[in-house]
Amino acid sequence: MEFIEAPSPNFEPRKGPPDMIVLHYTGMRTGEEALARLRDPQAKVSSHYMVEEDGRVFRLVPEERRAWHAGRSFWKGETDINGVSVGVEIVNPGHEFGYRPFPDAQVAAVIALVADIRTRWSVDDSRIVGHADVAPDRKEDPGELFPWKRLAEAGHGLWVEPPAAPGAPLGEGEEGAGVFALQAGLTRLGYDCAPSGRFDEHTAAVIRAFQRHWRQERVDGIADGETRARLIGLLRAAA
Ligand SMILES: [Zn+2]
Repeated sequence: MEFIEAPSPNFEPRKGPPDMIVLHYTGMRTGEEALARLRDPQAKVSSHYMVEEDGRVFRLVPEERRAWHAGRSFWKGETDINGVSVGVEIVNPGHEFGYRPFPDAQVAAVIALVADIRTRWSVDDSRIVGHADVAPDRKEDPGELFPWKRLAEAGHGLWVEPPAAPGAPLGEGEEGAGVFALQAGLTRLGYDCAPSGRFDEHTAAVIRAFQRHWRQERVDGIADGETRARLIGLLRAAA
């Protein structure tokens, strides 16, 4: 794996080895602009790597150090996601500046990078996630155009093929055992979604994050039969 060294001063020590990978998009107009910000001491943000649209990979922070990419976040009970993860920024203007498909060369580089990171650290498939997965109320990246399926086909991350899935959709405002079971499943997968039995605004945000990752054809915050069937399939795959 070839890297372009572009050190960022924005890091600190970590307490232990990383066991998660968090993927982002940069959400800025250009890669140069994003790279400058990730290296700006004033900005106080960084990531371990940034992958350009042409497939070049910049190394900003050593993996042994804690970079500042995830902010307030949660996965499987862990709230210090920066402390336990390797952060990868993928250049894309994002939903704010013109979200567009990730080019082939860029996706190939991300796949190679994830494979490379996993040769050094023990990272389970269920711990390769997007920023939106760990911060669903605040973040949308890397979003519904990121080819999680292709990453999974290369051997990295969880995926499940669309199962036949009847069943009434669950949406905001609904209450009951079905909502409780849905929230329990989302929590088991890793999301911050403590079961209450009430389908509130936060639950809808978690469903949107789930859909951006695992049900990309439909990002609407409504847990239709297929969304729920995919969740069950993923829990089986993760078990
Ligand atoms: Zn992000």
